[in-house]
Parts: sequence; C-alpha cells; structure tokens
Amino acid sequence: MNVVRKTEALRTRGRVGLVPTMGAFHEGHLSLMRAARAECDTVVVSLFVNPAQFGERDDLERYPRDEERDARLAAEAGVDILFAPTAQEMYPDGFATWVDVDEDGGEAAARPGHFRGVATVCLKLFNIVRPDVAYFGQKDAQQAAVLRRMVRDLNLGVQLRVLPTVRDADGLALSSRNAYLSARERETALALPRALEAGRTAADPVAATRAALNGLEPEYVEILTLGDATVLAAAARVGSTRLIDNVLLEGAIA
Ligand code: AMP
Repeated sequence: MNVVRKTEALRTRGRVGLVPTMGAFHEGHLSLMRAARAECDTVVVSLFVNPAQFGERDDLERYPRDEERDARLAAEAGVDILFAPTAQEMYPDGFATWVDVDEDGGEAAARPGHFRGVATVCLKLFNIVRPDVAYFGQKDAQQAAVLRRMVRDLNLGVQLRVLPTVRDADGLALSSRNAYLSARERETALALPRALEAGRTAADPVAATRAALNGLEPEYVEILTLGDATVLAAAARVGSTRLIDNVLLEGAIA
C-alpha cells in the first residue's frame, strides 16, 4: 500500500473505489474498505480530518488521530492507496469556493455549515481520485443522502454505495468518537441504540425513542425522509461526547 499526500502523485487503474474517512479506523470503516476491495481494481481510502465540517464548538482539536495504526489496518484490508493530504493541500491559501447545500432537519439543523463542509470535501475528493464508486456508511444516513443528491444535482457520475451500520455486540454503533467514552459513559450511551430500536416498532417512534433515552441528553429525535428511505435518527450527548445513530423505518438506503 502507498501513502500519498499530493494530489498529483495519485495513480489508479481500472475500476476505482474510494472510501472517504477521517481516520481512527474501526470495523465500520474496514467494512467499507473490504467492500471496495471486493468490487474494485484500485481501492483508495482518504484520511483527512476535515476542518470545514467542524463547528466552533465541535471536537476538531481532540478528534482521535493515529495515522500509523490506520495505515496498518488499511493495508491489512487490501487498500492500495491511503490518500492523507495536508490541510494546505486541501484548502490552499485563498480557498474561496464551497458547495452550498439546502438541507433541513437532523444534522443540518443541529450543526449549521456541517454539510457544506462535507459536500465540499467530498466533491474535492471525487475530483482528485475520480472514483467509479464511493463507499459510505448508513451510520451517517443523512450525509449519504446529501451526497447522493449532490452527485445527481452536479452530474458527478460517481456511483454511491451505502453499507449497513456496524455495531458492537451490545448494539452501540461503532464510531471514532466512542474512544472519548469512559466505561460508565459507554454504558449510558447504550440507551441510544436501544431507544431507536424501541422507537422503530412503536406507534409514535419519536415519542417512544425520547422516552427511552435514559440518562442521555437528546439533541434531536426525528423522522427523516432521505431519498427512498425513511429513517428514525437521533443525536444525543453523553458527557462531552456527541453521538448519532439511526434505524431504517421504511424503504432502502442502499
Ligand atoms: P468518518 O471517519 O467517521 O467520517 O466515517 C467515514 C465513513 O465510515 C462514513 O461513510 C461513515 O458513515 C462510515 N462509518 C462510520 N461509522 C460506521 C459504522 N459504525 N458502520 C458503518 N459505517 C460507518
């Protein structure tokens, strides 16, 4: 596997799969890499903690970083190229062009400017890597829907694949941010997947989820229509850590 930092040093061949990430790899990331490995000739994983998608109150500074470990895990998953650009490479001095995303509810309302940062960096990554297919996780279902719409709206011609959320045995969705949780907070965090599961089959999914978020500070619980899918999505805080999760109510995300 090659670690590449410069756009012009990227060399791909055949069908190209891209897995955009912010690093601190876990099984969720690795499941996307393995799918790309099975379906593509060249697998590129991007590793870039994108400042543009963090708000002022967000955790950019403390976001977990371990490139050496990530490079080892990516190589083991059969990745050909780890594209790990510098912030200067992605946002050179004088950078002034952004993708403006119209999106309401969920993460869009809770984190103003978040999807603008996500869409901009993904458009840049698509232009740099020129993938045939890009892989995303259902864990961030609204993000996947925003990106799918961007691909359609801006005629990007990239196929998007959205793969199921990978969870720990007890149901907690894997997330790089789980590393922030103490043992006790992790126990509290379990209420999030459990509440969504209770909400999934309830007559009033939002009320049932809210009622079961024991000990968690909910930011939102909403039913979101994302393309052909309807999902029950929630964000909540455990101490200083923000967690999101969702379950499918109807339709399909893939
Ligand atoms: P991140 O590094 O958190 O930006 O995530 C990179 C990609 O991995 C995104 O497409 C996420 O949706 C996906 N991802 C993150 N967590 C999971 C998970 N638990 N299961 C599946 N995909 C995930």
